Amino acid sequence: MSENNRVHAINAIAERVPLAPTEELPPDASLSTYGEDVFGAKMIRKYLSKATAAKLLAVVNDYAPLDPSIADEVADGMKRWALAKGATHFTHWFQPLTGGTAEKHDAFLESRGQGEAIQRFSGSNLIGGEADASSFPSGGLRSTFEARGYTTWDPTSPAFIKRHANGATLCVPTAFCSYNGEALDAKTPLLRSLQALTHSVERLMGIFHQKKAHVSVTLGAEQEYFLVDRAFYMMRPDLLQTGRTVFGAAPAKHQQLDDHYYGSIRPRVLKFMTEVDHQLWKLGIPAKTRHNEVAPAQFELAPMFEDLNLAVDHNMLAMEILRRTAERNGFVCLLHEKPFEGVNGSGKHCNWSIAYGGRNLLEPGKSPKENAIFLTVLAAVIRAVDSHADILRSTTASAGNDHRLGGNEAPPAVISIYLGDQLAEIVEQLEKGDSGKSRSSAAPSALRVGVDTLPPLPRDATDRNRTSPFAFTGNKFEFRAPGSSQSCAYPEAVLNTIVAESLDYISDELAKSGKADFNDTLQKLLQKIIRKHSRVLFSGDGYASEWPAEAARRGLPNMPDTLSAIAPIVDRANQELFAKYGVFSPAEMKSRWEIERETYTSRVHIEGQVALSIARSMIRPVVADEFSKLATALSVARKDGLKVGTRGLKALALKLGAGLDDLHVKCERLDKALSHGTSADQLHEMASLRRTVDALERLVDDSRWPLPKYREMLFIY
Ligand code: ADP
Ligand code: MG
Repeated sequence: MSENNRVHAINAIAERVPLAPTEELPPDASLSTYGEDVFGAKMIRKYLSKATAAKLLAVVNDYAPLDPSIADEVADGMKRWALAKGATHFTHWFQPLTGGTAEKHDAFLESRGQGEAIQRFSGSNLIGGEADASSFPSGGLRSTFEARGYTTWDPTSPAFIKRHANGATLCVPTAFCSYNGEALDAKTPLLRSLQALTHSVERLMGIFHQKKAHVSVTLGAEQEYFLVDRAFYMMRPDLLQTGRTVFGAAPAKHQQLDDHYYGSIRPRVLKFMTEVDHQLWKLGIPAKTRHNEVAPAQFELAPMFEDLNLAVDHNMLAMEILRRTAERNGFVCLLHEKPFEGVNGSGKHCNWSIAYGGRNLLEPGKSPKENAIFLTVLAAVIRAVDSHADILRSTTASAGNDHRLGGNEAPPAVISIYLGDQLAEIVEQLEKGDSGKSRSSAAPSALRVGVDTLPPLPRDATDRNRTSPFAFTGNKFEFRAPGSSQSCAYPEAVLNTIVAESLDYISDELAKSGKADFNDTLQKLLQKIIRKHSRVLFSGDGYASEWPAEAARRGLPNMPDTLSAIAPIVDRANQELFAKYGVFSPAEMKSRWEIERETYTSRVHIEGQVALSIARSMIRPVVADEFSKLATALSVARKDGLKVGTRGLKALALKLGAGLDDLHVKCERLDKALSHGTSADQLHEMASLRRTVDALERLVDDSRWPLPKYREMLFIY
């Protein structure tokens, strides 16, 4: 490596002007291309017969069972649409347990011999496929002799077109299972959990004498990410291999001044964001908000909420489009939870709610009845999160998120709920309440469920507590602990299931009460729930150092790292709960635990190896060389009897020499931990090596430091 690679990179970046709009992606101010790459309702009606379109739309909108006899016609219509879009191939698009997405392309091609072929896509091509699953993680679910995995079309998420420079591919969202029907993907359990929750909501609404209506669970996933210039990225083996920097001294200025958050967006970034939005809109993904986040070079993309299953698919696509578009713009999009130490990490805020017949159940209504339903669902969520905090926490565990959760800016690893002042007061009134006795004996402030109305709750940003991992934000809950690179599928599947269980508990209790006054019974029940579970409510500062102790006093679990956080997945009671709701079988949970553990230990090990190799082969030579030059200069100066400069040379040589020795010792220790130690040992030695390297970064001749520095990566773009 030449001594000036960093300088070259900086010069190259300085010359990057915000490029002209990419030709194939002109800004679409009129939204005329919104959804044009999706086989949605309009295209379904255009390409299919009236009867078939009606049947398919009933599946899409009302989760009616799919009539397999329509598959051939649907496939044919889809193919004609896709061909008109320039697609040559189709793929089942699925989400294996790697946490990402997978595709295997097949051409719409059937040979007729004699150099002739026709384009074909049959109903069976559409409905199901077979894929060699042997190289996907299965956590022991599938033995190698049974290597096949099966993909099944998910008609509730529309097929879409994925474009590339030389054409396009028809993507059919699918689930992915083993021969025995065990889920090898993220979508299958999510769909099962939606079914369970729908069921529980319908049952409760029946008890409240609500007309039968459509249940929809909704998700709006806010996506945080960093952008770093590709020229820097290429010079950082750690970013390339692990997605995060394992070394890097803190720059003098990082985020102390809070001058990045919501700041004006630089032209080059805005061009990138506009391209991202435009592509998302073509796919019918309602990207709505874009802004600078708190850390330098950190940004956020937020779509409008949609049906949960669709929103999860859309978030997976959004991550892919962010990455791809970044590259086209000379950036790399970092979705890692903590790419840079000392500045904020990135999360994925999962905004979740339930609507019944189009009415949001987490929004206080106009009538006492609607308010009673609101409070009931609220109490169910509180009970669910408190009773199942361990399994909910497990869904956010990963090597990347470990650096973020509990960090100085991220929601802590303790799961608690923030309600906001006004709702907290309402819940307090409910807790104190008069157990539904006669009006006159009620304390003046007591709330009577089913009798009183509630004031509208504020939804503005002033009533926010950014330190809470699970916050009520006016008409929805925002689960902030999940990491930025994660799929929302697993956290949401777990949330759906524990809330379903809680709603069922409430339905059971209400059903038991027989002829007693309904409002009275409900009031007492909600009171009991709040009294039992109010320990999970916390409106203080989640970052405060006193909180973990207070949480422990309350008996709230605190699992600060992945290995402890995933343990509850194999807990007997949790396995029984998820089996009861048909979301995960015990074997599927065991497999998830296995995969999480394996992924975690592998990732930590890889990071350790990368750190070691950078330290030994990139840092040490530079330090050794500078030290030996100093040592030579010093001995020459002494021999020549120079009276000045030797003190300075000696002081520097001493520091560099000590740093060099230190580097040697710490590399040896990390090496040992990598061969014999636990993940915790490896992390410990990496952190220790990092301190030495970061101190050397401040000491060594800047022009020779091989790694782009934080002050460059975070500010020059
Ligand atoms: P913030 O201040 O956190 O950015 P917003 O009101 O902009 O809050 O909403 C953030 C996310 O929450 C958006 O994706 C939005 O669409 C989503 N959201 C709003 N209402 C609901 C709801 N009922 N269910 C699920 N998500 C919702
Ligand atoms: Mg938010």
